[in-house]
Amino acid sequence: MPTEIAHFVDGARVPGRSGRTQPAFNPATGEATGAVHLASAAEVDEAVASAKRAFPGWAGTPPLRRARILNRFLRLCEERTDQLAAIITAEHGKVLSDAKGEIQRGLEVVEFATGIPQLLKGEVTENVGTRVDSHALRQPLGVVAGITPFNFPVMVPMWMFPVALACGNTFILKPSERDPSASLVLAEWLKEAGLPDGVFNVVQGDKEAVDALLHHPDVQAVSFVGSTPIAKYIYGTAAMQGKRAQALGGAKNHMIIMPDADLDQAVDALMGAAYGSAGERCMAISVAVPVGEKTADALIEKLVPRVRGLKVGPGTDPEAEMGPVVTQQHRDRVKGYVDLGVAEGAELVVDGRGLTLQGYENGYFIGGSLFDRVTPEMRIYKEEIFGPVLAVARAPDFATAATWINEHEFGNGTAIFTRDGDAAREFAHGIQVGMVGINVPIPVPMAFHSFGGWKASLFGDHHMHGPEGVRFYTRLKTITTRWPTGIRAGADFVMPTMR
Ligand code: NAD
Repeated sequence: MPTEIAHFVDGARVPGRSGRTQPAFNPATGEATGAVHLASAAEVDEAVASAKRAFPGWAGTPPLRRARILNRFLRLCEERTDQLAAIITAEHGKVLSDAKGEIQRGLEVVEFATGIPQLLKGEVTENVGTRVDSHALRQPLGVVAGITPFNFPVMVPMWMFPVALACGNTFILKPSERDPSASLVLAEWLKEAGLPDGVFNVVQGDKEAVDALLHHPDVQAVSFVGSTPIAKYIYGTAAMQGKRAQALGGAKNHMIIMPDADLDQAVDALMGAAYGSAGERCMAISVAVPVGEKTADALIEKLVPRVRGLKVGPGTDPEAEMGPVVTQQHRDRVKGYVDLGVAEGAELVVDGRGLTLQGYENGYFIGGSLFDRVTPEMRIYKEEIFGPVLAVARAPDFATAATWINEHEFGNGTAIFTRDGDAAREFAHGIQVGMVGINVPIPVPMAFHSFGGWKASLFGDHHMHGPEGVRFYTRLKTITTRWPTGIRAGADFVMPTMR
């Protein structure tokens, strides 16, 4: 019997009433394990109403007290990491060690958010005019919403809600309908840590729930992470409604391998970055750009046996390096891209399409694929595949490699592997991408920095978490003060100027 996966509103799990549900699957077995309740606009309205009621009390709670609740939540998550990782693996498919890594990176944002008393300190200027003082402070926005993708069911919500809550907002999470269960557990643990009812709510759902949030007059801000077409839609719709919005989109991350790079180090880095989590990471490297034919030949020679030797298995197998992809449709889509690459004339040097696993014949497995001689006109170069498929695009020189990256639609992450400080500096300085690694394949910024790409990888002004997160979830108020001194200057009809 599939488990009912419902909403969490006003401090409790509540079943859906829309009559609409969708199955959630275990990608390793293909078994339908859950029935996700899809919220109607009326159910979203109830969640927003709960968050709105909770807002004044939470916003008025001293930041240090808010931080202590987050601290308790952090400890609960640390103690129960295995339980949370198992929930992720059962619905997403990624290997358990990777699920634990995701939780760790998410909890670092919770840790960052516990520093909120320091982060919210404002600015003061004494004597902006004679006996006149000014101070500027940041206040929470109100009810804010987070809409998240399937690929990090814990980490991406944690890019958002710890900072939003720490700043004094109340939060509605609309998780991916493909792996929705972790969100409910997080809501319960926040409550157990002392979070008042209504401060954190979860609505499960699809476009109907998202649209209800985007058009709700009491939702002040929307954070989104997902694919680029939806990110564009979310940003445009929310902005038209006068809401603050940040919408992170898709990616096609390149890694340049210079002729002087340590090739073994580069190959190790590529294996993890291209095939880890079956390529379903927005910071995955999907294009390797060796500079010069000699570098390319040597890279391919080292990569081929490694890709052929990838250990693919269910996420619960401690030996597995890569699990299944998230759904059957997604596996078919990834396979379709491999077919397309062959049709476009790229050289398929490792073909993962035929993989089957004994005992897991109904799972959504696909082996690692490797293409050589991919060129920028090909669709497999231009489009995000989001699967275990690495394209090698051979560049004649550094300038060409950098131009390809700069001209690509996406600008999420990128990396260069080299021992040449000049090339590395030129790359870091000039490349049109938001997150850059120098001999670091997946340069995901730590929680106290901010995460975000450029170009079609982010719509909005603020990156997530770190100082940008605090700015996004607060608004500035500047107060100018004069205390009566007994001196009357009389009415003044000119624009106030410094006296
Ligand atoms: P998705 O865009 O399909 O879904 C994301 C969210 O949007 C989900 O909650 C979904 O329910 C909702 N949604 C889907 N279609 C909608 C519609 N028509 N109207 C309104 N809402 C809709 O993305 P996904 O497949 O879950 O996640 C994978 C994508 O996310 C990839 O493109 C990946 O690059 C991207 N991603 C980006 C980052 C980043 O930081 N830039 C991080 C993680 C994932």
